[in-house]
Amino acid sequence: MKLNIQRTSKPKPKYKDESKLGFGRLFTDHMLTMYYSIEDGWYDLKIKPFEDFKLSPACAVFHYGQEAFEGMKAYKRPDKSIALFRPWDNIKRMNSTCERICAPKLPEDAVLEALYELIRLDADWIPSSPGTSLYIRPTIIATDPFLGVHPSHTYIFYIILSPVGAYYENGLAPTKIYIETEYVRSVKGGTGYVKTGGNYAASLVASARAEEKGCDQALWLDARERKYIEEVGSMNIFFKIGEEIVTPKLTGSILPGITRDSVIKLANKFGMKVSERLISVDELKDAHKNGMLKEVFGTGTAAVISPVGELMIDDDTLIINNGKMGETTSLMYDTLTGIQNGTVKDDFGWTIKVL
Ligand SMILES: *Cc1c(COP(=O)(O)O)cnc(C)c1O
Repeated sequence: MKLNIQRTSKPKPKYKDESKLGFGRLFTDHMLTMYYSIEDGWYDLKIKPFEDFKLSPACAVFHYGQEAFEGMKAYKRPDKSIALFRPWDNIKRMNSTCERICAPKLPEDAVLEALYELIRLDADWIPSSPGTSLYIRPTIIATDPFLGVHPSHTYIFYIILSPVGAYYENGLAPTKIYIETEYVRSVKGGTGYVKTGGNYAASLVASARAEEKGCDQALWLDARERKYIEEVGSMNIFFKIGEEIVTPKLTGSILPGITRDSVIKLANKFGMKVSERLISVDELKDAHKNGMLKEVFGTGTAAVISPVGELMIDDDTLIINNGKMGETTSLMYDTLTGIQNGTVKDDFGWTIKVL
């Protein structure tokens, strides 16, 4: 597929202070778009100036949430080169989301090549201080102007780019997590294993409650028994119990995180025992009581590795590792961010230099 490039004639003024970027509020000069119709398949792959869409208020995406998204990052390295981390896995996962929501699959290679081109074009927007990066948001929306409940016949795929600072305002300070025992996020057979907006719409009520309780995010339990740990808002979760590293197994209701997979592979390489299995809240409480719950951390593209300092369950609070970041958490953070920034050898072939 041919990629057309239309450069902006009015570049926006760039941010002045990398330390005040925050997350996802600011966008670069260009975006990528590609259209789909049932007659023509995907067509009109284009890089153009960042601009608003003009869409019918009847569009399917507004009413029934037929959409898929992804989140990945590009890093400006100390040597000024620019690298992405496992972007092919994000595009594969987007196609698995498309399959679940009855949207057409993307041509993976064409999309990746176009993404690399977009990043080269907006490379000056990528911040370089530690913890900063360029957040990449690919999205597909259903655009049929039709109120019937039916898979759309037309779609827009687009990618926007946002220079970002550290995900959490207080940096790597351990977070407080609230275990949600009433609402559930997802159930096996539902959409929990794919990245679609509706999962997040359903989760906001628990995030709001977590905030009311003075916590940063909610942790979900399984929908059937409200007994087993699933994942946090936008992160998978790991526990170090004694010498065992444990993470919930992928049962069909949990998002298969690329950071989660990377941590499992790194831990194995370091000779640590990682178990993907069911973990009940009761097991965590017991392990905490016996001094065996050593570390807890979340994994996800936005935060990379996020240490957890407190777990709140009902009115009980479990303090983890005296509220400090533990050694395994630090090792994973340093290794992953090192691979992303090119300061640690990439033995797995996870990174690709695009400039
Ligand atoms: C995106 C996401 C994650 C993290 O996935 P990564 O591929 O590691 O970024 C975890 N949980 C949910 C619900 C997500 O949407």
